[in-house]
Amino acid sequence: MKMIDIHDIRNINQTVLLHLIRERQPISRAEIAKLTGLRPGTISSIVNRLIRKGVIYEGAEGPSSGGRKPTYLFINSESAYVLAVSIGVRETTYAVSDFTGRIMTEKAILTSGGDPTAFLKSLAADIRAMISSNYARANFVAVGVSVPGLVKRDTGELIVSPNLEWNNLPVKKILEKELQLPVYVENDANAAAYSELWYGPLEEIKVKTLLYILVVDGLGTGLIINGELHVGSQVGLGGFGHMSIEPNGEVCSCGRRGCWETLASDSATVARYHRLMSNKNDSESFSISEIIARANRGDEKAVTALRATAEFLGEGITSIAHGLSPEIIVIGGEISTAWNLIGDIVKEKVKSKYLIPSVAKLEIRPSSVPRPSLFGAIPIALQNYF
Ligand SMILES: [Zn+2]
Repeated sequence: MKMIDIHDIRNINQTVLLHLIRERQPISRAEIAKLTGLRPGTISSIVNRLIRKGVIYEGAEGPSSGGRKPTYLFINSESAYVLAVSIGVRETTYAVSDFTGRIMTEKAILTSGGDPTAFLKSLAADIRAMISSNYARANFVAVGVSVPGLVKRDTGELIVSPNLEWNNLPVKKILEKELQLPVYVENDANAAAYSELWYGPLEEIKVKTLLYILVVDGLGTGLIINGELHVGSQVGLGGFGHMSIEPNGEVCSCGRRGCWETLASDSATVARYHRLMSNKNDSESFSISEIIARANRGDEKAVTALRATAEFLGEGITSIAHGLSPEIIVIGGEISTAWNLIGDIVKEKVKSKYLIPSVAKLEIRPSSVPRPSLFGAIPIALQNYF
């Protein structure tokens, strides 16, 4: 008889628990219960599953206080490896991680603008070459892929990515054939939300509702709600990036007008800076990193462009926060490195408009993980493998 595994990959408890064991090992079940607030039965069922999979193991350690020695849990870091792939509009990065989530190798290539199937095949060839020269004898078990677009979760198909201009692309099917490994595809903002659970501050281990705002060329949101990744209907949700903020605003990549993305994404910041600079160097194109660097050197126009983005981030956050009331809002992407310039503006904007400040405590902070779409693809691979 086939055992039915009722574990749902959307459930974050397993990721949270592994994060805790990794950071605090050796750790006992009782300590896990105390730190996470999870019920002992829930902890036992997750721990037993992870032991069966060889991901963690038990051992005795520490002084005995006379009675029965508690057993401690450890992570079996090198039992297997996973691959993480983050497909971005300009750049695609991939990495090898062990089971503790430690990145061993990382590489970036340009995302080619041509045929997406051909690009995925050349990406896979690149990965295969890296594995055969550096990890020929390693046991790879899964691949997590994050993409900036709508994903059909069961088939791993990228339904639409306005920023990549890719449609109906069977990412899972192509990469599984090329890499001969199970591949799990997830929206980049959802992956980013997972990066905080997997690598974020342990003080937040009890947080059940977290909203991640991923600011890249586009703007996506990932939502962990009541301890689960919110996936909506079968086709993964696109988040709040296409929420309308200015009905008569600029035309968005989705075809509508005034979406949040047209005001607060990196593309929006870059365009704003270019408008401010319009009287000179028209042909020169700046990256978001360059604009942040200039702002930090005192370039007034760069500061103005970033401040305007911060206002729009705050504007959108206020609308979402009223509806969802998350415990923590995380802003990730390159712009989070300009927190010294934007953080107070975002917070002030939300505070001035938030209707229930005295009732609901709302923390807004920059991401604690660099390259969140890449780091988030690691728990996506691990979650599915366990
Ligand atoms: Zn839009």
